[in-house]
Amino acid sequence: MPLVTSTEMFKKAYDGGYAIGAFNVNNMEIVQGITEACQEQKAPVILQVSKGARAYANHTYLIKMVEAAVIECPDIPIVLHLDHGPDFETCKACIDGGFTSVMIDCSSRPFDENVAETKKVVEYAHAHGVVVEAELGTLAGVEDDVQVSAEDSSYTHPEEVEEFVTRTGCDSLAIAIGTSHGAYKFTPEQCTRNEQGILVPPPLRFDVLEEVSKRLPGFPIVLHGSSSVPRQFVDKINAHGGKMPDAIGIPEDELRHAAQLSVCKINIDSDIRLAITATIREYFDEHPDHFDPRQYLKPARQAVKDMVTHKLVNVLGCNGKA
Ligand SMILES: [Zn+2]
Repeated sequence: MPLVTSTEMFKKAYDGGYAIGAFNVNNMEIVQGITEACQEQKAPVILQVSKGARAYANHTYLIKMVEAAVIECPDIPIVLHLDHGPDFETCKACIDGGFTSVMIDCSSRPFDENVAETKKVVEYAHAHGVVVEAELGTLAGVEDDVQVSAEDSSYTHPEEVEEFVTRTGCDSLAIAIGTSHGAYKFTPEQCTRNEQGILVPPPLRFDVLEEVSKRLPGFPIVLHGSSSVPRQFVDKINAHGGKMPDAIGIPEDELRHAAQLSVCKINIDSDIRLAITATIREYFDEHPDHFDPRQYLKPARQAVKDMVTHKLVNVLGCNGKA
């Protein structure tokens, strides 16, 4: 099937109490690892491309790799989505260039400016059969070249969501309930430690999510910054010459709970990076004489596939839903 929009996917996910995985793609091995897992698990999927990915890999290469995945994975619906579109022009370029979904992120701007820019993107996108994700509230963390400190982040104000969605006509809404971009989502000072001395992050604000959902019944909600930063990847990186002390993510049981509620799209990027880096670091340590990129990219691609399979089955619950 050709690329699809997320409209049907989100409706089924909302009603079925699961979420669709939105995985960031930057190169061929990542595209293959994600889509092979989804094809095997019969899971619908959103492949998303950030501004940084377009700068790194080039729009045309990304589009063609995703088109190849569509051909290789005929049994699953695939959405091609722009992650964190900064302005109308970037969104327009992606809509014109074959994306089926775009995010316009003006969440750091005043409410009325966010409404105005989002509305402009929605009008253009809908006229071209493309859907739009918008954002209210500000996540902490690092995303490409944008860095937001914990002090400058803010939870979504539930009392704003109805007006925002009505005025903009957006199709889904990313909200801030305590998730964060990057592999260092919280400082050790924000966390507590369990009996093993492992950092435990502050819980997500499910009260904010519930309040939003009450005001927007049936409306798909999106969580950004939702990698779990699995311990085994961080440990492997540190055991093989890496230096990532106190990297910390969102506990998977919290994400599973969110997926059962109104959250229909969960963004995962850092866990892909960690899976690849951990695998390659270990490989280099064990095979110092190897120099063929295929030798170490093959297990790295497999690690992405295994990690995504785990998310589909144990976190998102979207396996078998294609
Ligand atoms: Zn994000």
